[in-house]
Amino acid sequence: MRSNSAWQTWVSSLPAQAGRSRSARYGVCAALLAAGILTGLAGCPSAAPRELLGATAAPQIRVLLDTVPQGASRTVAVNGSFQVLDRARRVLWESPVGVSAAATRRDDDSIAWSGRDLGTWWVEIVATEQQFSIDGVPYRGTLRLYVREAERGARELVFVNAVALEQYLAGVLRGELPKRFADAAQAALAIAARTYALYQIAVLPSDVEYHVLADERSQVYRGLRGEDAPARKIVAATSGLVLVDAFASPRRIFETFYCCTCGGTTQPARLLTGRPAPGALEGGISCSYCGAAGSPFLTWPEVKIARGELTRRLVNSFPSLEPLGPIARIDVVERTAGDRPALLRLVGDSGRERMLRPEELRVALGGRMLKSAWCEIARRGNEFVFTGGRGYGHGVGLCQYGAQGLALAGRSTSQILSFYYPGSSLERAY
Ligand SMILES: [Zn+2]
Repeated sequence: MRSNSAWQTWVSSLPAQAGRSRSARYGVCAALLAAGILTGLAGCPSAAPRELLGATAAPQIRVLLDTVPQGASRTVAVNGSFQVLDRARRVLWESPVGVSAAATRRDDDSIAWSGRDLGTWWVEIVATEQQFSIDGVPYRGTLRLYVREAERGARELVFVNAVALEQYLAGVLRGELPKRFADAAQAALAIAARTYALYQIAVLPSDVEYHVLADERSQVYRGLRGEDAPARKIVAATSGLVLVDAFASPRRIFETFYCCTCGGTTQPARLLTGRPAPGALEGGISCSYCGAAGSPFLTWPEVKIARGELTRRLVNSFPSLEPLGPIARIDVVERTAGDRPALLRLVGDSGRERMLRPEELRVALGGRMLKSAWCEIARRGNEFVFTGGRGYGHGVGLCQYGAQGLALAGRSTSQILSFYYPGSSLERAY
């Protein structure tokens, strides 16, 4: 179980250089999303997600699996025959037998694979069996490799898995939920995860190199190693089903955030994104079900961090905070109706101050260090202390442990989804 869920498009939490280089090379939309991290202006003009409803087949999703810096490599193995294609879909190389080879980038930015210089910065490896592995971890679909700019002018090799959406979801379900959770909770998560993924496909440019990350910043995806028969069965049983905002005209999918444990009340999505969200994501839903399901994260013990380390991590994520100097104070200046911090004021030794969303602080410190932004913040000597912590994750949308609690109380998948996304309805996207 991860907190997931992350932003999910917590696009905010894309590594800064990933957002930059992706947007620089692949379009303005990603730049807007990346900029939203700091400005609260996140969001592309929607590419009319509605267009994705009524498709004849599941689309393909592209997942960023890994990046390696100059000089490093990953071992890619392919069973059986395969082709290596360039960006224009020309066959650069084909082999009747499988290989296991180190993929790396050369100084001239072309990709070297199996000791060959492929002579290009972008390739796709397409195996007849539609499977490959990276350092022994198997994935379905195809593998795309490309070279992009990284920090300080360096370049890195990027590994992207292009895979059919339904196959991707089978690898997500087990990454996001324990196997022991009830089928109704698993199916609810499968539908939320499908909608979330489809939303990213809808709003990002069609030629974007990847739609999602493979960890809790988007959705935890473990590829073929994460699949099992029950997960495949749940995904198949809900195939094509997505959530739509029933009050929108025309009805459309929305960004179905979800979290591990809300801690007692769900939160409005604007705390996460800084922008208005559909009614289904307004939060404020009283949830006793994560507690009833025995979530170990309903409350969490005190967390301490040295002032210097807190300042360093914040400046690392938000360079514009540097002029504040060492952070002297963090005040909660706004709270939600559920008493969760909604806006923070950071005051530095310089006397300067800046506002920050609590989720931005949480992500900057590391989502696992600070399980949620629902806590009290105090300075004690040369440390900051976080006490009274509740929940795990951003608290927006479906609460995973709560979904389990509702399932144990006999609620159906659609009842669980209506509980956490009020005003939504189920629709078949394909
Ligand atoms: Zn809950």
